[in-house]
Amino acid sequence: TYVIAQPCVDLKDKACVEECPVDCIYEGPRKMYINPDECVDCGACEPVCPVEAIFYEDALPDEWSGYPTAEREVFAAT
Ligand code: SF4
Repeated sequence: TYVIAQPCVDLKDKACVEECPVDCIYEGPRKMYINPDECVDCGACEPVCPVEAIFYEDALPDEWSGYPTAEREVFAAT
């Protein structure tokens, strides 16, 4: 899955939402979230993010390596 990391917080540009072919990017209180169960790994969202917040989960910078687990918990709770 692709993951939206810290640069999105308090920004929520939403350019990614327009690109996602399966509409799996959701708005949270402070950032956007990709549902890992719905993402088809197409990569369309990554280049359109103006702050480069989106990464393939295995390509996340170390400082944000906890994001995939945290995002899965967000959607597991719903
Ligand atoms: Fe949507 Fe594709 Fe981005 Fe996954 S990688 S969130 S399917 S645009």
